[in-house]
Amino acid sequence: MKLRINDTLIHQAESPRGIIYRMVIVYTYLAPLAIFIIALTQRSHEHINSYCIVNSFSVIILIWLIRKSFKILSPAPYISTLIIGLFILLNSTLSSMIGGLNILDSSTTSIVAAILHAPAIVIIAHSFNKYITFVNSNYQSALSLAFTDELTGLPNRRHLNFKLKEIENKSCTLCIADIDYFKKINDTWGHEMGDKVLASIGLKLMNLSNENLFIARSGGEEFCIIITETTDAADQVRNILSFLQGGINGGVNITLSVGASIKKTNEMASLVMERADVALYQAKNTGKNRVVFN
Ligand code: GH3
Ligand code: MG
Ligand code: MG
Repeated sequence: MKLRINDTLIHQAESPRGIIYRMVIVYTYLAPLAIFIIALTQRSHEHINSYCIVNSFSVIILIWLIRKSFKILSPAPYISTLIIGLFILLNSTLSSMIGGLNILDSSTTSIVAAILHAPAIVIIAHSFNKYITFVNSNYQSALSLAFTDELTGLPNRRHLNFKLKEIENKSCTLCIADIDYFKKINDTWGHEMGDKVLASIGLKLMNLSNENLFIARSGGEEFCIIITETTDAADQVRNILSFLQGGINGGVNITLSVGASIKKTNEMASLVMERADVALYQAKNTGKNRVVFN
């Protein structure tokens, strides 16, 4: 589910974090404003110099960062730690500003700023590091979920489409393998048994896959095999089939029909797939349980 910023705001408003969010944001605006008003009333504005301008700029950036970090869509505790770190750093900068504008004794404000600065940086670095690990592992799982077929564990159709783009300028052998009489398995032993057979075949095919042999579940009981090492492609296909047909898959003996086509370097993968599809049709119409090259 894709969450929009609106959803975040609704969540903020409805949760106790919403109150904290408002309190922090109000503070981040009121504190610098109060410092400037006091500086003007005490005529400390004569101390507005490049040091004060740099501090003001840091304050603006920190307020922006605090606002943004509240909008991170993660319930992880280290997000709160990151906000705390940023909040402490903001106060350290505000303290420097107070000293720079001569509102309070600058030696005292410098000590306060230094005491706040060190833990703030440690907290920010620690929570940011944790957040990077969290984002990276989530990215990996999201990618894996998006590109894997749930039932068989094989690369899915989306992954196959990426692979087809990748091999666009390469030569290879493309095969479409379709289980024979699969409907019968479903009709005789039920859909669950059909799933079991597919999962068992998926596991076997996954174990066969390597850098020169890509196997994806392209449809219901159909698999796409891409062999990039083309010297013995026909033998490889036959070996795969005898490996699958030799054993019992989820308790059922199966056979497969395969349509295969060789792709030359400059040929479009989609055209070769069409040829393989025609070959599969021929394999099905000439008795099934065979490999036909086109
Ligand atoms: P052919 O030998 O000509 O390939 O015939 P077939 O029965 O294998 O093929 P057909 O296209 O007639 O039927 C394929 C069946 O595969 C129909 C569908 O219900 C079943 N199927 C597709 N996906 C799944 C799945 O994920 N699980 C199960 N159990 N069955 C599936
Ligand atoms: Mg079939
Ligand atoms: Mg089919």
